[in-house]
Amino acid sequence: MEILYKSTRDDSKRVSASYAIAKGIADDGGLFVPEQFPSLEKSLEELSGMDYKGIAYEVMKLFFSDFSEEELKYCIDNAYDSKFDTEDTVVMSYVDKAYYLELFHGSTIAFKDMALSILPYLMKVSAKKNNIKEDIVILTATSGDTGKAALAGFAGVEGVKIIVFYPKGGVSAIQEKQMVTQVGDNVKVVGIKGNFDDAQTGVKNIFTDKEFNEKINKAGYRFSSANSINIGRLIPQVVYYVYAYANLLKNGKIEEGDLINFVVPTGNFGNILAGYFAKCIGLPVNKLICASNENKVLYDFFNSSVYDRNRDFILTTSPSMDILISSNFERLVYLSCGGNSELNKKLMNDLKEKGSYEVTAEMKQFIDESFIGGFASEKQVSDRIKNVFDKTGYVLDTHTAVASAVYEEYRKTVDDDNETVIVSTASPYKFTRAVLSAIDSTEHDEEDFVLVDRLNEISGIEIPKAVKDIRNAEILHKNVCEKADMKKEVADFLSL
Ligand SMILES: *Cc1c(COP(=O)(O)O)cnc(C)c1O
Repeated sequence: MEILYKSTRDDSKRVSASYAIAKGIADDGGLFVPEQFPSLEKSLEELSGMDYKGIAYEVMKLFFSDFSEEELKYCIDNAYDSKFDTEDTVVMSYVDKAYYLELFHGSTIAFKDMALSILPYLMKVSAKKNNIKEDIVILTATSGDTGKAALAGFAGVEGVKIIVFYPKGGVSAIQEKQMVTQVGDNVKVVGIKGNFDDAQTGVKNIFTDKEFNEKINKAGYRFSSANSINIGRLIPQVVYYVYAYANLLKNGKIEEGDLINFVVPTGNFGNILAGYFAKCIGLPVNKLICASNENKVLYDFFNSSVYDRNRDFILTTSPSMDILISSNFERLVYLSCGGNSELNKKLMNDLKEKGSYEVTAEMKQFIDESFIGGFASEKQVSDRIKNVFDKTGYVLDTHTAVASAVYEEYRKTVDDDNETVIVSTASPYKFTRAVLSAIDSTEHDEEDFVLVDRLNEISGIEIPKAVKDIRNAEILHKNVCEKADMKKEVADFLSL
């Protein structure tokens, strides 16, 4: 079945998967969504006999239907190799009555590696298939983890340049060091005086700035995105939901057809939306539990039908979830009104103009069939890290702890004995200071790499290569700009 994509804000055009990947975001500012959902071709039983790459192929071929088998397998084989420090790309750990799907065994130790290891290959193939002659300029806004994962994926890739904007002061020390030490002739990293939403809005504005796009086209460039607004990011994330189910089935923890829950620590709504896509292609999912930190816009939406970003932006210990405008939520809103692009456009315009919008009762009902919201305060997050560590010796990072705390609450309040998978998004070493403070509340005023050693002593978990590598690395990127000057930074980078 051929799957075409359309924009959430315009019903008139259809594009191929490869075109949507190369483009990133639609010209009208909307996001690409599949016109209809395909279905898994293999049974869950058959999938349970496959490794990660095998499942990746089975899932991605459905959505990327204009890729040949050879093209897609080339991408998959290059992505999910020894960059991952584990036997089969991801790990499932059973801890305190839930399964933790550890997605942080890639080169930058956050789940973003799951998609950003393959995106450069998907993009390369997509550019070729669409006869794109210009060099691709990847514009990326990061809440901390996308930046490094995208840099690692695209550094040194021929025909591509990448520029990353991160909120200065809004990411962890280890996250920042990972980014500002990135080597490569085709990379640039800039801190902005603003938060993640400012960075993301700035990037979206550059994407849809017609004049600027024409200018860079003339110079032989075109923009694309490595954020989860790109379906080349989103679809590879569907794979691990299917993998998690297949793994439970293989190990006799569930029977074929049993429903399971996923708890997802959420920011931009990309990860959890991929879980929803997995459900749409036939994975037996009961509830997708959307876990927010104190920036609980989504939690409030699930309780009111109103999406309202008019509130203070809170800097938490889970910075990759410090987001008030969850871009991918637009795709769910669009699907919930039966693909009504006019209505979606109006709501997104309300968000832009007033900072809020309300969905209809039918839309809310549609969303509630699959999703439920929860949130965890900073205290709950830190208590959860400590409790799990004291009880089991397992160390949660701050983001995974948000999900874990939300699930604790869910178990207490909802009568649901389906098996549950907690999507585990980062290594605790990325957020060492917060994790260590939770486990041991004495003062931690030492510098971050001393704390890395302390965490290693306390937990016995090996220090990941990603952290060892940056310990003494030279800082190469020192730019910090006003949020109004992002376009200028891009122009400088491209020598325009
Ligand atoms: C990006 C990120 C998240 C949030 O994922 P979204 O797809 O933006 O919802 C959660 N945890 C970590 C560690 C991340 O890097």
